[in-house]
Amino acid sequence: PNVAARIAAGEVIERPASVVKELVENALDAGASRIRISVRGGGLHEIRVSDDGCGIPADELPLALQRHATSKLAEDDLERIETLGFRGEALPSIAAVAELTIASATSDAPVGRQLTVRGGRILADEPIAHPPGTTVTVRHLFEDLPARLAHVRNTRAEMAEIARVVQRLAIAAPHVRIALRIEDRVVLQTTGSGDRRVVLSELYGPTLASSLLPFGPLKIGDCSCSGFVSSPDLTRSSRRHLHVVVNGRWAQSRTVLALLEAAYQPLLPRGRHPVLVLVITADPAAVDVNIHPAKLEVRLRAERELGQAIAEEVRSLLARTPR
Ligand code: ADP
Ligand code: MG
Repeated sequence: PNVAARIAAGEVIERPASVVKELVENALDAGASRIRISVRGGGLHEIRVSDDGCGIPADELPLALQRHATSKLAEDDLERIETLGFRGEALPSIAAVAELTIASATSDAPVGRQLTVRGGRILADEPIAHPPGTTVTVRHLFEDLPARLAHVRNTRAEMAEIARVVQRLAIAAPHVRIALRIEDRVVLQTTGSGDRRVVLSELYGPTLASSLLPFGPLKIGDCSCSGFVSSPDLTRSSRRHLHVVVNGRWAQSRTVLALLEAAYQPLLPRGRHPVLVLVITADPAAVDVNIHPAKLEVRLRAERELGQAIAEEVRSLLARTPR
């Protein structure tokens, strides 16, 4: 592909975990109830994501790989994002920096179609038997981009990051059964029970899950928030376990998290953080996810009031719970 395509791709696809995130988000947008992820060689050798979602009609498959082609957004929808993807950039960006094979079938078609592209060229295109849903396989990631490859040498760190990304997606989508295999070993698995507490048990273990203190729902303006915080005797040394889910999207909200931290810090041992999940529901028009192409940071209307209310709730919960 041309230089512009590769530079643009770099914004979304920084590392193997970005590929996993984009592919799983597509599977969630497709309404999957089951998603299987497998990774080899830190994601550089192979990443495969398979779902049982709506699939892509054979005649539309080439479109899915075209830049800015998305099936998810009508012209006037930009102010109301209700799907995880909306830019139509992920698949073409991945295809610009790797070999990508996409196999897909819909429930009403007798056969599916499989396309393999690399560097903007179609390597293979054939009919294929595939159950309803989609499988995307990404190989040789960054192989033609030595500079980017140099940044992701450490496969252990990449595997850890991939596991974190899948963990976040699992927390955001408790109704979906998700399994992550790394080098053929299952490292994470959820049952898709729909119950976030069960997901937290599956991710953090039953001891932590049963100690979680629930709170909410708090209503602030057109936002509603509920969640769980771990009891003060089960804290962590990292902020990584502060999870915020806004309208089904795992997100970071600087303002809310800063207010929260200021509230819990005096109640916990120095440098310790709770495991915490905030589930925020808001009018999509009041949520701005358009800040960065990686779509992690969100801005909410009234986030200061919301953050203050949550912080106060968490503070009083922790203060009431003996360590
Ligand atoms: P976006 O998610 O922003 O629309 P992508 O490049 O990630 O852009 O995907 C392009 C299009 O390909 C999507 O709009 C969707 O129509 C289709 N697509 C991608 N992955 C899947 C999937 N797993 N199941 C069904 N459709 C998919
Ligand atoms: Mg997408």
